[in-house]
Amino acid sequence: MNYKTSYWLMRILGIGGILVMLIGGITGRTVIGVLGIICVLVGTLQMNFFYHCPHCKRDLPKRTLPKTCPYCKKPLD
Ligand SMILES: [Zn+2]
Repeated sequence: MNYKTSYWLMRILGIGGILVMLIGGITGRTVIGVLGIICVLVGTLQMNFFYHCPHCKRDLPKRTLPKTCPYCKKPLD
């Protein structure tokens, strides 16, 4: 898995997880709520392993998907 996949996975799991948590809250089903929390956690945790620069291996900023690495200035792709 590369940094781009990791970024989108974080986005999808983050947003999806929050939605699932809301559904769990609305329907009153704790199991669904817990599933949503797991999605958000997995989305965040996998970034620690995969979301880094392919050149210098340093962690990339989490808010945006940068075009160049802020550390080694090499283009990301
Ligand atoms: Zn770099």
